[in-house]
Amino acid sequence: MEKKGILVVVSGFSGAGKGTLMKELLKNYDSYALSVSATTRSPREGEVHGKDYFFVTKENFRGMIEAGELYEFAEYTNNYYGTPRQYVDERMAEGKDVILEIEVQGAEKIKKQFPDTVLIFVTPPTAKELKNRLIGRGSETPETIRKRLNRAVEEAKYMPFYDYILVNDDLGTATKELHAIICSEHFKSTRNREAILGITDELREITKEKGEV
Ligand code: 5GP
Repeated sequence: MEKKGILVVVSGFSGAGKGTLMKELLKNYDSYALSVSATTRSPREGEVHGKDYFFVTKENFRGMIEAGELYEFAEYTNNYYGTPRQYVDERMAEGKDVILEIEVQGAEKIKKQFPDTVLIFVTPPTAKELKNRLIGRGSETPETIRKRLNRAVEEAKYMPFYDYILVNDDLGTATKELHAIICSEHFKSTRNREAILGITDELREITKEKGEV
């Protein structure tokens, strides 16, 4: 049976550890491809253009929207973020499970276009832990931290619409759990229609055959 790639959206509060979780998942399993988004925000220290994001100007970003190059885009704390189509299409065609690490509005838009998408929401165990992780990053100003926490209050409202809630307490455990969720999605009957039809036809044929059983 041909293994088809699944589109997976991973969202979560800023500071939930999604980025690290994604890196760990890709390091441990080769069945995944992580989509690289375009953004108008400035690179953080150590971030690489084309690997972490495509860092573009607002003008470039508008150009991408007008050319229909993005599957979705959203504004987040005064910057734009969007998912380029080409990379997603190419990796899906290769049979990879493609992960979009995007915020809640983008997730909603993707689910509308591709109802088969698996939506996973990553959260730290507590709000206090979230605040500590944002402060611990050392890369954000107090103003940005406040904005991101306020935004988290809004994002929490979307949690019930996600298919899975993943608590990221221990990185190793969360990585295995994420992989397990995606693996089991492959076994869903709705994703295996061809296999069902195949065995049904074979059974029909075999029961028509004459001779010894
Ligand atoms: P950060 O600035 O911390 O890298 O990302 C801010 C938020 O933007 C995160 O919630 C991240 O998941 C989201 N994000 C990153 N890329 C995209 C994208 O292509 N589309 C949407 N809608 N959100 C994105």
